[in-house]
Amino acid sequence: MEKLDSENHKSGCLVCGRELVYHDTYESRECFYCKQSYETNVTCAAGHYICDSCHSLSAINIIRQFCDSSELTDPLRMALILMRHPAVKMHGPEHHFLVPAVLLAAYYNLTGEAAKKKEKIEQAEKRAKQILGGFCGFYGDCGAAVGTGIFLSLITGATPLSVDSWRLSNLMTAESLRSVALHGGPRCCKRNTYLAILEAARFLKENLNIRMDISSKIKCEFSPLNKECLKEGCVFYSGYKG
Ligand SMILES: [Zn+2]
Ligand SMILES: [Zn+2]
Repeated sequence: MEKLDSENHKSGCLVCGRELVYHDTYESRECFYCKQSYETNVTCAAGHYICDSCHSLSAINIIRQFCDSSELTDPLRMALILMRHPAVKMHGPEHHFLVPAVLLAAYYNLTGEAAKKKEKIEQAEKRAKQILGGFCGFYGDCGAAVGTGIFLSLITGATPLSVDSWRLSNLMTAESLRSVALHGGPRCCKRNTYLAILEAARFLKENLNIRMDISSKIKCEFSPLNKECLKEGCVFYSGYKG
């Protein structure tokens, strides 16, 4: 078994960052993202395998692919996995789709209605496309927060004419946006995504009595990529002093 360290690759494992290992024999392995099986001789040291197609997908496509096939019920964990894919940049409008996609996937996996997931995620993608980059600063309306409104609208079937689902969807965006705003700028698509997902989970519990499994404490691993990182001023920074 020959080991190559991640220096020899653009990066190590996209899932866990460990080094890639080239095995002597080819075996059928399931791709971590799409769950399809392929013959391969390369995995990471922890056994993750990523097919060539998923490796080279665009941000929107890998978000859709992973959320369609994942059975996870923790939206924050799903968000962190997707953020490690090289197509998902440090900042960018792909986060506006990432937020409703992981929430929808976790929600339908949790409620046992996985059959509805694909179509709802497709709808979320169409809606999230309308939320342009820089929405937070230019419109005063962070796209990650709007993403939670899209999520609530889709699970409750809200339209502009609805009554209670209309109230809930707008309230959902309002509460995530408030959490994002109170943290203060400058923009960080990672921080705002974490905050929006945490608010969505709290909102679901309070209003729909649905409890999502959420990872207990996030230590953000993207700080070195963010030149505007607030570091000690961000609740998700590893050295946050409260
Ligand atoms: Zn791995
Ligand atoms: Zn794949």
